[in-house]
Amino acid sequence: MSATERSLQNGLPAAGAFEVQTSTGEASAIHAEQLCRHYRMGDTLIRAVDGVTLTVGAGEFVALLGSSGSGKSSVLNLIAGLDRPTSGSVIVQGRDLAQLSREELSKYRLRTVGMVFQSFNLIPSMTLLENVELPMRFAEVDRGKRDSLAHEALSRVGLQARMSHRPSELSGGEQQRAALARALINHPRLLLADEPTGNLDSHTGVEIMNLVREFNRQLGMTVVMVTHERALAERYAQRLIFLADGKLIGEEVNSAAAGQTGASHAIRDGARP
Ligand code: ADP
Ligand code: MG
Repeated sequence: MSATERSLQNGLPAAGAFEVQTSTGEASAIHAEQLCRHYRMGDTLIRAVDGVTLTVGAGEFVALLGSSGSGKSSVLNLIAGLDRPTSGSVIVQGRDLAQLSREELSKYRLRTVGMVFQSFNLIPSMTLLENVELPMRFAEVDRGKRDSLAHEALSRVGLQARMSHRPSELSGGEQQRAALARALINHPRLLLADEPTGNLDSHTGVEIMNLVREFNRQLGMTVVMVTHERALAERYAQRLIFLADGKLIGEEVNSAAAGQTGASHAIRDGARP
């Protein structure tokens, strides 16, 4: 049953048929409804995601927190369209991912979502420039345009001098910056980050997080970041969402970072020394 059918049965408006208010008071970018991802391993059923209902506002920066195995990556992968739910629904930018064909889903991954991972996931045999323009090759963007967009994205993350290097010639922080440039290349509305600082020292982690925040504030990207580090979440995210055993167990609006979104703040922050 689709979310719409279920909602109609319950006598409620369909999810996505109305705008859900969130901590920034903006329209919803993501709405998950009773989301489940269960894995069958022999005789046991692993409930990696077990009935998660969650809304993220457009332009919001949220952190998904929880201990190892709590289901954070599984939730993120469902939002990313890398995996499909066992039941329940995910609606992103008004599109119910469960209703998309394989082709539509790969287009969605290409155009709507940018993703970064703990392990960077760059292709070792390719230069940074080639790595960053790869998504645009899939999107069949012509070479000249690809090249200029990849240059622009790499410059944005401060790697203009490293474009012809291969990942192994770079530090972890530089590799993650390249991964951010790759995530940014198709101008996605949504940035999904799975433990983006997990392999970095704390100083480099802060540099990466400052870039993520810049994308959120200056480009208006919605950010969902998975982390198990509460201090990191409190420093950057407007809302903290806690998971345990595949379930949402709590939520906190982070007043220190809440409401700090949009261009006016970017300008205000830019004016600071
Ligand atoms: P987290 O990111 O919070 O550490 P995960 O989402 O990776 O947690 O995993 C949640 C649970 O689901 C864990 O118990 C994990 O072992 C299990 N799990 C994740 N992926 C699979 C899979 N492909 N097959 C079987 N079990 C899985
Ligand atoms: Mg994980």
